[in-house]
Amino acid sequence: MKKRKKIAFDLDGVIIDKPPIIPKRLLEWLFCGGGKNGLHYRYPKTRLERTIRKISHYYLFRPPIKGNVEFIKKMAKDPSLEFYVISGRYSFLEKETKNWLEKNKISKFFTQIFLNLNDEQPHLYKEKILGNLKPDIFIDDDLLLVNFLTKKINNCKIFCFLSSGKIRTKTRVLKEGQLIKILEE
Ligand SMILES: [Mg+2]
Repeated sequence: MKKRKKIAFDLDGVIIDKPPIIPKRLLEWLFCGGGKNGLHYRYPKTRLERTIRKISHYYLFRPPIKGNVEFIKKMAKDPSLEFYVISGRYSFLEKETKNWLEKNKISKFFTQIFLNLNDEQPHLYKEKILGNLKPDIFIDDDLLLVNFLTKKINNCKIFCFLSSGKIRTKTRVLKEGQLIKILEE
């Protein structure tokens, strides 16, 4: 029997869209902590900050990225493919995350869903899971993280998903509707 192809997705920015009502600047501050120091992700230390994050992850504030979700639903019928989620979301968002996947009726399409329940730095967590799972393809929307993983992980095609816009690096960029292309490679 032919080996099944494993395709792993990041969650936020690939499957789940950002909340449309929260300013981009605030989101960047909440999630990357400024980003000046390279790859370091902010863990919200105060209860207030965690509460803000929890609210901002309430499923009604987070629309699905339709093109990608439709791709997964359609391709899930193909028995030669297996889908996974590898999310760097911290443990305090476990309930919100499960709720989102349930409300959007998408959990069943994934063989396994990996959440960062020990609150590790997201890039290190993803490196670890990719190393164990060994998927054929991984898709994330965080360019710094994609560049980091590309250096660390072998035998996995890693793509950066951008819903719009161009970037000036050699990173392989996918836009909505282009997911099918990666299967043709
Ligand atoms: Mg992301």
